[in-house]
Amino acid sequence: MPGPDVANSWPPPVKRILLTADQIQERVSQLAAQLQRDYAGRRPLLVAVLRGSVVFLSDLIRHLNMPVCLDFVQLASYGDSTCSSGQVEVLKDLGTDIAGQDVVVVEDIVDTGRTLAYLVEELERRGAASVKVCALLDKPSRREVPVRLDYVGFEVPDCFVVGYGLDFAGQYRNLPYVAELSPQAYAPQEE
Ligand code: 5GP
Repeated sequence: MPGPDVANSWPPPVKRILLTADQIQERVSQLAAQLQRDYAGRRPLLVAVLRGSVVFLSDLIRHLNMPVCLDFVQLASYGDSTCSSGQVEVLKDLGTDIAGQDVVVVEDIVDTGRTLAYLVEELERRGAASVKVCALLDKPSRREVPVRLDYVGFEVPDCFVVGYGLDFAGQYRNLPYVAELSPQAYAPQEE
């Protein structure tokens, strides 16, 4: 992961744009159409994972011409390939009783899969009628824990991406595109 050295620079030090705003918007409307078909006659509860998925969620729901409810969770994942306890901490819990509800988890990006695996298991444990996952981005090359993704926007390569909700040290969530950060973002700054 990059360090926070360039976290306040603008425009962001982008190496390449992976997904343009137009590509994202087109795909988001396709995902919404799929959801609308699959959940016809039902009222799914969309559970967005803070904070990265808020931009995706807000675009997605405006394409949904059907009843939906929203809720939010915020999770922190500790544990990586070298220290794989896979510990996930709940920073903000749901405000809804999800028992009997058709839940769709809305996630920005699936990397190791640890966060999502924990969340899906927890939602099932709480008695959701069904749990499906809608992820904007998938980094399959990084997967450590198997997770089923029911709706995926795009696959991305193993690089650190920012924009469209995804941050670098808290910045760049407001970019309308998804980009790979330039290596200068990772390097220590010259005096
Ligand atoms: P996982 O539990 O799948 O390893 O972690 C998923 C979370 O890691 C995402 O929700 C996101 O917050 C963060 N993450 C993983 N890859 C990236 C990336 O390329 N860019 C950014 N900004 N966050 C990432």
